[in-house]
Amino acid sequence: MARPYNFSAGPAAMPAEVLQQAAAEMLDWHGSGMSVMEMSHRGQDFGTILEAAEADLRELLAVPSHFRVLFMQGGGLAENAIVPLNLSRGQAVDFVVTGSWSQKSLKEAQRYCGARVAASNETDAHTRLPEPATWHIGADAQYVHLCSNETINGVEVHELPDLKALGSDAPLVIDFSSHVASRPVDWSRVGLAFGGAQKNLGPAGLTLVVVREDLLGHALAACPSAFDYKTVADNRSMYNTPPTYAIYMAGLTFQWLKRQTDGALRGVAAMEARNIAKAELLYGYIDQSAFYVNKVAANCRSRMNVPFFLRDESRNDAFLAGAKAASLLQLKGHKSVGGMRASIYNAMPIEGVQALVAYMRQFEQTQA
Ligand SMILES: *Cc1c(COP(=O)(O)O)cnc(C)c1O
Repeated sequence: MARPYNFSAGPAAMPAEVLQQAAAEMLDWHGSGMSVMEMSHRGQDFGTILEAAEADLRELLAVPSHFRVLFMQGGGLAENAIVPLNLSRGQAVDFVVTGSWSQKSLKEAQRYCGARVAASNETDAHTRLPEPATWHIGADAQYVHLCSNETINGVEVHELPDLKALGSDAPLVIDFSSHVASRPVDWSRVGLAFGGAQKNLGPAGLTLVVVREDLLGHALAACPSAFDYKTVADNRSMYNTPPTYAIYMAGLTFQWLKRQTDGALRGVAAMEARNIAKAELLYGYIDQSAFYVNKVAANCRSRMNVPFFLRDESRNDAFLAGAKAASLLQLKGHKSVGGMRASIYNAMPIEGVQALVAYMRQFEQTQA
């Protein structure tokens, strides 16, 4: 049975192969007589799953050895509190506001430290990226927060800023929830990266944190122990029960990612090539059309989340109903932006984007 194409922003589509493997292993994982859900997190079997997941992720994202990989809970939103609790030392922190998610991060951090706005694209309705050279980073900033892909506004940072070149020694914190593993990460420019798993890595419930070792051990006294990065790191993500099944599913996704090729490219590099091709196809169609529009500046359009509008918004409901009938699901835009949004994460094949463009073309023609 062909499944419909699911353009949900998250929780989002997962690779069918991963779901099939999980289904096949549901009642009896590798002869253990148990589902992964039923295993002790301290047992040898789950230990094997956790270690493989970390090793595969490190390989896929080329994580340097002086970074720790933490499997946490609470989602991206909890990290908005956990990061300042761990890194701010209660002092000043600078935020680059590029859309809804960084705005939320700023607001939450203000509860714990002196969070300031270093730059904002609010007057441009979150459609362009402030040039790093214009950011006001204080000499006292304990870190600089940047959302490297704004899921709601469709704004992606295609080259991480080099804060050292901007005269700052502060570590860069990125929220890479919605484009993790869609492209390589330049770790030389990053101090900490966090992301919920439910966009590109697996089911909800798991939060990935990759943090430079020297940033551990500075948590505020009020930081809950389960959210103190040093405690989590010292206990190899097992200070308390980790989200075992979500880690297992992410681990299967990592194995799937490692199998992907595109010409000579493998793994995340192969995904990046495919993601570029998918994004070019969709933006290319939108841009040549007089019927649809995307308002984000060309140099920061997201490869993962493509918000677009019908110029005649009275056709929105008809567009969505027709899309559903054509097996193209969850295209409605976020309520704060309106219009449509197609999220085309790693698990969306180019065929799904081709089907979407074919539908958009046909809908445009029937409206003429
Ligand atoms: C989805 C998302 C989040 C929120 O994650 P939760 O798991 O719902 O807390 C945070 N940041 C970005 C960029 C996201 O896309």
